[in-house]
Amino acid sequence: MRAFLAAVLILAACGKSHEPPKAPAPQASAAPAPSAKEDGPLFRIDSNEPEIPASPDRSQAHPGPDDSLKADRAGLTVGSTSKAIGIQWRTQAAPEGKRLVWAESATVVYRMSIAIFVSSTFKEDSCPYRVTWEHELSHARAYVSIFAASKVHLLAGLEHSQEVDTPLPTQDAPAALQADEVADFEARMGEKLKQVVEDQERVTDTLMADHKRDRDSPEAYRKDFEKCPAADWLVLRGGS
Ligand SMILES: [Zn+2]
Repeated sequence: MRAFLAAVLILAACGKSHEPPKAPAPQASAAPAPSAKEDGPLFRIDSNEPEIPASPDRSQAHPGPDDSLKADRAGLTVGSTSKAIGIQWRTQAAPEGKRLVWAESATVVYRMSIAIFVSSTFKEDSCPYRVTWEHELSHARAYVSIFAASKVHLLAGLEHSQEVDTPLPTQDAPAALQADEVADFEARMGEKLKQVVEDQERVTDTLMADHKRDRDSPEAYRKDFEKCPAADWLVLRGGS
């Protein structure tokens, strides 16, 4: 039983889910420019430093997806990202019935929230509780660093996108369009930025998965498992 438990104990499976995007709040043009380092002259990243919960959610015996690992799952850390893109367009009448079109700014809302679960079967003063909570915190801290780096890369990706294909027009270099072309053009620009954000999101997913592979390796699990007397872990499976 001891060896079996050591082999299969899932201290934490780390999930990642995506929330539906929320539209960014419209920016008043008179608002002072934010000074966060994720802001460039045209692009603004409206982001957060994910808050690590002060204590875990202990409402479930086996948190996480309903799968074959469920009975052995002692904890779970979920880093959820959400994104939305808002382009603040300006237009102006131009000769020959055309419209000048430019973006005053483009805001990408890019946020992460972190939820941590520890099995309700562990007493709060027990060794498995303490080890599992520490294990989950290590995931949470890694997600905070990965997300901080990904914000910086996202801004660089957005700025680089200005050198690829059609750039987002600016007041200095507006697009001159027929009136009936404006909506399509704005939609295409929105799609272009969306691809940049989704590319960065894939990189972030990969970094989180790489971290999880290391931290949740059989060797890492074994080390965590050995921090407590083997019998202490049995409560997870209803043993004594
Ligand atoms: Zn884990």
